[in-house]
Amino acid sequence: MSTTATTAAAAASARPRLRWGVPAYVVFVAAAIVLAIVVPKTGYVFNISLQATTYAIAVLGLTIVLGLCGQINLAQAAFFGLGAYAVGLGQTEHGLNFWVCLLIGSGLAALFGALLGASTLRLGGHYLAMVTISFQQILTLVLINWIPVTKGPDGVRAIPRPAFFADGSSYLALCIAVLGGLGYLVWHLRDTRLGRAMRAVRDNELAAGVAGIDVYRTKVTAFALSAVLGGIGGGLFAGGFAYVSPDQFSFAESVVFLTMVLLGGVASPIGAVIGTGLLILIPEWLRFLKSIPGLYLAIYGAAVILIVLFMPDGIWGFVRGQFDRFKRATAPSASGDALQLSGGGVGTDTVLEVRKLSKHFGGLKAVDEVDLTIKRGGVHALIGPNGSGKTTTLNVLSGLYKATSGTIMLNGQDITSLPPHVRTKAGLGRTFQNIRLWRSMTALENVMVGAERPGSPVGNDPASVVARARAALAFVDLEHRADEVVAGFSYGHQRAVEIARALASDPALLLLDEPGAGLNSSEKVELRNLLKRISAHGLTILIIDHDMTLVSEVAQHITVLNFGRRIADGHSADVLKHPDVIAAYLGTAPDVAA
Ligand code: ADP
Ligand code: MG
Repeated sequence: MSTTATTAAAAASARPRLRWGVPAYVVFVAAAIVLAIVVPKTGYVFNISLQATTYAIAVLGLTIVLGLCGQINLAQAAFFGLGAYAVGLGQTEHGLNFWVCLLIGSGLAALFGALLGASTLRLGGHYLAMVTISFQQILTLVLINWIPVTKGPDGVRAIPRPAFFADGSSYLALCIAVLGGLGYLVWHLRDTRLGRAMRAVRDNELAAGVAGIDVYRTKVTAFALSAVLGGIGGGLFAGGFAYVSPDQFSFAESVVFLTMVLLGGVASPIGAVIGTGLLILIPEWLRFLKSIPGLYLAIYGAAVILIVLFMPDGIWGFVRGQFDRFKRATAPSASGDALQLSGGGVGTDTVLEVRKLSKHFGGLKAVDEVDLTIKRGGVHALIGPNGSGKTTTLNVLSGLYKATSGTIMLNGQDITSLPPHVRTKAGLGRTFQNIRLWRSMTALENVMVGAERPGSPVGNDPASVVARARAALAFVDLEHRADEVVAGFSYGHQRAVEIARALASDPALLLLDEPGAGLNSSEKVELRNLLKRISAHGLTILIIDHDMTLVSEVAQHITVLNFGRRIADGHSADVLKHPDVIAAYLGTAPDVAA
């Protein structure tokens, strides 16, 4: 077994490395340490360094919520402010210890971050942006106007530093160490189960839910973690400068944080550090222009716009792209164990029992009182003309749509009103008519998410997850492309990865929505063989397809829909001869069709 080797290879391929093999990250940490030693204890350079370091911690938070999870957060300055005021007020007004204050500040930030994240249950995109802006504005108003508690516009003065770190150099070193430590954690978060879940949510939320990820909890976690980093950054900022006031944590600062992360590159902690450093330094470099006020701002703005325009993935994204060009192709690793499919165990001989299932869209009865019984083992086909309700049926089965009425029993368990990720846990796997992969992730990462769904046979052990994902890729003959990003795959290969992702979760029932659509004839032959191999492993398949040759070759049982109603059901050969079915497909009444 070479699971350790394969894990290492997978991990290595996911991270940028400098050409001499040192993780790029180490270089940045070393640079930071040198900086801490070189920078004087007080004065101008010290202030700039302290600001950059504490800001970078908050910007790291945006790497999580925006970079990994794809959620907009325009309130990072508010979380920064929460941390700063906790450290300021806690020490000066309530006599608390610095570290206790920092803990309270990050805790408060986490709490409010989670609350903001909770709003993603109903909101996304522009609306989410508005909610975060509102939170930001409310906090600013509270800081300014709740004078008895916050001391209002005057701010908090004489904020002490903790013991052992009272001196400027040691305090800066502390901040850099915290930045380094947190940066390291964020760096590794990407390749953890949570990190993959976040990236899956960012790339395709619908597919994430269906693959077993609790989308809502993932977003709330991302917001909370991001807010904690904001709080820590703010707390250290307050200790460093000994003075805080409401204007330091305004909406404008949130925009600055966002610009920093976009400028440096949202996908990596290194980007966060680069962006923060640059955005603090550029104004300083342009200081000599300050005698002509308009010119200074114009050049500053133009520089930022140009960088973002020509490096859409930020500066680090650009640099990383250059490294990747030199990267050697990873050697194909030894094949994992053959994929084990349990077929959902040995329950009753009925896997899925659907009774009087309906889905109405307003007046349109897309699915109308459909009964469907799927026996364990074998291939069951769901066919019907375009618009007859096949995809809608699958969407109701997998929980993307709520059933208007009817019941769905999977392995004897009523799943009618469960959310998608819980149905996946209960044993449903599916693919989509329009492929839904996480396009910025590698084939292996896509399939790993399937392998690590809750309750899967490999559990939480990372090496087993990788091994199972590789085995699933090998099953669809794509193991050699495991470490490539799927966006560059052909249509046929993307379909195969999607099937592998579903297989990796070891479902009891595999739902395939038109897997043959868009494939050329040789790919269709491969698909047919693949379906037969899956079926030979004892896994039950419900397949939607238009290709009658494929359907009649692989399916033993067929259910036919027309206008949302079931018009035929039974053994393949019988159903295909059924007059109503012929009529539905040819569009003529059976007795007229001679
Ligand atoms: P099929 O997959 O059999 O081609 P669909 O299930 O996609 O058909 O669609 C069945 C009917 O439901 C169509 O008339 C379609 O326009 C309608 N429909 C599907 N999804 C929605 C939706 N989200 N909102 C409104 N109508 C929908
Ligand atoms: Mg369809």
